[in-house]
Amino acid sequence: MPTLFLRWRQRLSALSVTAVIVSAGCSSPGTPATTAADLVIANGTVVTMNDQRDVLEGGTVVIRGSDIVEVGPASIAAKYRAARTVDARGGIVMPGLINTHTHVSMTVFRGLGDDVPDRLRTLIFPLEKALIDRELVFWGGLHGMAEMIEGGVTTFVDMYYFEDEVARATVQAGLRGVLGETIVNFAAPDAPEPYGGLGYARSFAAQYRNHPLVTPALAPHAPYSLDEGHLREIAKEADALNLPILMHVAEMTDEVETLRTERGQTPVEYLDAIGLLSPRLLAAHGVYVNDSDIALLKARDVGLAHAVVSNAKSARPVAPATKMFKSGLRIGLASDGAMSGNTLDIIGQMGYVAKIHKLDQRDRRAMPAVDVVEMATRGGARALHMENRLGSLEAGKLADVIVLDGDSTTLVPRYDVYSSLVYATSPKDVVTTIVHGRVLMQDRRLTTIDVRDVRTRMRAIGRKIEDAVAKGIPGV
Ligand SMILES: [Zn+2]
Repeated sequence: MPTLFLRWRQRLSALSVTAVIVSAGCSSPGTPATTAADLVIANGTVVTMNDQRDVLEGGTVVIRGSDIVEVGPASIAAKYRAARTVDARGGIVMPGLINTHTHVSMTVFRGLGDDVPDRLRTLIFPLEKALIDRELVFWGGLHGMAEMIEGGVTTFVDMYYFEDEVARATVQAGLRGVLGETIVNFAAPDAPEPYGGLGYARSFAAQYRNHPLVTPALAPHAPYSLDEGHLREIAKEADALNLPILMHVAEMTDEVETLRTERGQTPVEYLDAIGLLSPRLLAAHGVYVNDSDIALLKARDVGLAHAVVSNAKSARPVAPATKMFKSGLRIGLASDGAMSGNTLDIIGQMGYVAKIHKLDQRDRRAMPAVDVVEMATRGGARALHMENRLGSLEAGKLADVIVLDGDSTTLVPRYDVYSSLVYATSPKDVVTTIVHGRVLMQDRRLTTIDVRDVRTRMRAIGRKIEDAVAKGIPGV
């Protein structure tokens, strides 16, 4: 089995490399630990996702403040006086997963209107107009964040209304968020005038500038729900304020048809022509793209959020993620909102990504497990242009780390850790989630969110929504 052999060789070479670092780093038997650390994660299979894809059996991750200071074999722990140690008990230690596109507060609508034809204009927009308020966005957001922490997501990308409430929940939860206030061409729940989201976004961005966990963004909804003039203005505004742009792109058939008829362009060509394609843009979906669109996205250094489960549930074509990934395009995985993909974790996406692309290409070799894990970690970080700080376990990166249960039935035995992660892991296997050096969940207990209180509030919100739907929502 050549690939297995190769992985063993990689493990051995990783151990020898880190052993050299240790000997150069002043540790010797009997020397008292002199270096202070806040947190040491010990006794795990450390899937580093570094450039060499090193996997360290019995590895150790050392954290000080918000950063990882060292990753190596068990012996490095002796150098540090750690305030706290997390024993991984033979489990998998890996970079936190990155959800590159969601609408977290839509957990309040989870399960409403599934298995029906196109619902965006006939159900989702009217529901949101009638029901969305600050309270719903905050509690729905916190509920979704509990789900993400429980599933090992440490960074998420969100676009919704009252995005300052999403940010407030994010800070309480302790998650890392790239959060975009939605801008649309009609009256929104938080902005009575069309395009009012732009003004809202400006003050939201000012409020959260340079926040350690929250990166504010502009979120024009889609090419079909804003006019050209406003899209151009948003591109300029993003440059002026140095903000990312989040947008649904090449997702809908009518989006493609309208642009083809009116301009003779694909959605990607259109956005390029009006100045939206740039490293600032994180485009969600990219279902209807051709080879030259992929080359254009790559040339403009755009990030892409691949949400295959949401797309499959909407019976859309499979986005050409294999081509995108192989071309070097910045691509990560995404759940979409809970009204589209129903769950917000990324572990659940990974198995689908591997299998749907195999099915689509009729090729067992398509989308191998290691590539899927890459997209869920480093790929997501690259899609956000945050790969210098996120996406792998290495000294100098932010301490966003998760631990999976080594005693989980489906993770025993474990021959190839990438295969285990993609084909045999469930979000419930995550036991510990750490973001920015802070433990948000240990042994499945959340430390920042009172989940019982949140569930009580969600049930009350659910009853309110049920009553409103029973009475009739205008426009539905
Ligand atoms: Zn979406």
